[in-house]
Amino acid sequence: MADQAPIVVVGTGLAGYSLLRELRKHDPDTPVVMLTADDGTSYSKPMLSTGFTKNKDADGLAQASAENMAVQLNAEIRTHVRVVSIEADRHELVVTGEPAGEQRLVYSKLVLAWGAEPVHLNLAGDGQDRVYSINDLMDYRAFRKAVDGARRVAIMGAGLIGCEFANDLRNGGYEVDVIAPDHRVMPGLLPEAAAAAVRSELSALGVGFHLGTVVERVDAVGDGVNLTLASGEQIAADVVISAVGLRPRTEPAEEAGVQTNRAIVVNRALETSVPDIYALGDCAEVDGHVLMYVLPLMACARALAKTLVGERTEVRYGVMPVMVKTPCCPTAVYPPPADAEGQWQVESEGRDVRAEFRSPVGETLGFAVTGDYAVEKQALARKVPAIHS
Ligand code: FAD
Repeated sequence: MADQAPIVVVGTGLAGYSLLRELRKHDPDTPVVMLTADDGTSYSKPMLSTGFTKNKDADGLAQASAENMAVQLNAEIRTHVRVVSIEADRHELVVTGEPAGEQRLVYSKLVLAWGAEPVHLNLAGDGQDRVYSINDLMDYRAFRKAVDGARRVAIMGAGLIGCEFANDLRNGGYEVDVIAPDHRVMPGLLPEAAAAAVRSELSALGVGFHLGTVVERVDAVGDGVNLTLASGEQIAADVVISAVGLRPRTEPAEEAGVQTNRAIVVNRALETSVPDIYALGDCAEVDGHVLMYVLPLMACARALAKTLVGERTEVRYGVMPVMVKTPCCPTAVYPPPADAEGQWQVESEGRDVRAEFRSPVGETLGFAVTGDYAVEKQALARKVPAIHS
């Protein structure tokens, strides 16, 4: 029964749709069912933090409806349904959604591309309904509605996403305050000098920074909120963005016996610990790497498509620098491996920073470039070792 069943892909984000595009290059006909908790609209998630700069609202960012994608990809796409359990021995899924309620679905092979969940802070106060996490197009639509006619936006979190939204919202004419616990921006990603350059350019653009502290309370005041920080500071805002991190979704795979760690554990062939179940995208830990970016998931989609048509293929991650979309201070970074020995060597002049992480024998293992030096990213990318070297 199971081998005549469709391939089931859970998730219609960039991982799910990229996989189907790749699969259809090799195999136009094998039945595929895609399941998604959202409305299945195809869009490019990185564009969510460029909406004001590029003058595009949620409709402007939508590329194709689920119906169009179903035709393009020759797949059945079921929207607004959620996988609640996996019975791996029987190759079955339990899915819920309106109006059909709970349903069972048999799969031949199951691909988990169900992404990551925004981390929600447990804050005191009665203003929580003005706090928005933006992790998909539907979130973005709700956020754009909330900021329509508003003036002041507070952003919790100064990571890549918090900084990108800060720049974009300033470009949209909003007053922006960023609150974050670390004393510098993008602490896990950028070396100090590059982080200081981005912060200083964002400040010059008018972004207010409240670093080294956290939001403790969000209280409703009229149509807006008042934020109370641990430092005692008070900030008034109309809308709050929570950009404090994403956690790869592991349930209900974990309950079904699939091995998980920081995310769903897969090898370089994207195989989980359970036969016929695969994972890619933000929910996957590939050979020890959790890389929640587009280039890694595209590489995984190409490899997994071949595996699904019978040509078992391992992914190879090359050099994949991260571009930070802060147009006030163009930035690219390729962090060194977490356990690498060495030191940052920095050339810096105002907003222009060129930092190379060198090993004790002088090998460049990572880099960060900002401002005018950002154009050097390609030359530097040729010097560093690939992730899978
Ligand atoms: P998602 O797009 O989150 O898709 C998950 C899918 O699974 C959705 O369809 C969802 O409905 C579905 N789903 C979830 N749970 C269930 C369930 N139980 N049952 C059924 N369906 C379910 N990366 C870059 O490389 N460069 C950038 O510049 C960049 N900018 C970014 C800017 C922002 C604002 C954000 C939020 C991310 C950015 N990223 C960037 C990261 C990149 O966009 C993500 O790594 C990528 O889009 C993840 O795709 P995904 O398909 O794995 O997950």
